[in-house]
Amino acid sequence: PDAADLDLISAHVRDVPDFPHPGIIFKDITPLLNHPEAFAVAVRALAAPFRDSGIDHVVGLEARGFIFGAPVAMALGAGFVPARKAGKLPSDTIDQAYDLEYGTATVEIHADAITPGSRVLVVDDVLATGGTGRAAVDLVRKAGGTVVGFSVLMELSALRGREKMPDVEPRTLLSV
Ligand code: AMP
Repeated sequence: PDAADLDLISAHVRDVPDFPHPGIIFKDITPLLNHPEAFAVAVRALAAPFRDSGIDHVVGLEARGFIFGAPVAMALGAGFVPARKAGKLPSDTIDQAYDLEYGTATVEIHADAITPGSRVLVVDDVLATGGTGRAAVDLVRKAGGTVVGFSVLMELSALRGREKMPDVEPRTLLSV
């Protein structure tokens, strides 16, 4: 993306202070989704580095990773795989637990979603502490897939999530 594309994207991400907890600045991407040009530019930019990477599946992380991941999958001619919180997927699953500030969480995909040996791109909206992305990468590998990349709209660099996945090198459009 050029500088004008990045300006268009960042102009449509809204900071919401103290959501969902005091002290958190929530990066609200709904204005971007509701702006046809900004949304299209963002999807193109998320997909662009991986056009020639032979991606077979795009894994989108619940919930905002679904919204970006599905059109990225279409742009790359890949299948889309939702990675969901525990208990949401109806068929057999494989899962990966990860630590939260308090307690743990689990992400799941359908056990038959990723063909062993296939090439996978993980997509999400925000990279914060990196816990979610790390779990998704480990989950894809557990399923036998090769993680080719992690494409994210926005990185909160102070939280140093990137350091949790030196083996993947996340591609982020915006870094704040
Ligand atoms: P983390 O596991 O800490 O990297 O958090 C990443 C997940 O939480 C992503 O799925 C994001 O959608 C969400 N997230 C974390 N922090 C924020 C934030 N400040 N604004 C919006 N979403 C966030």
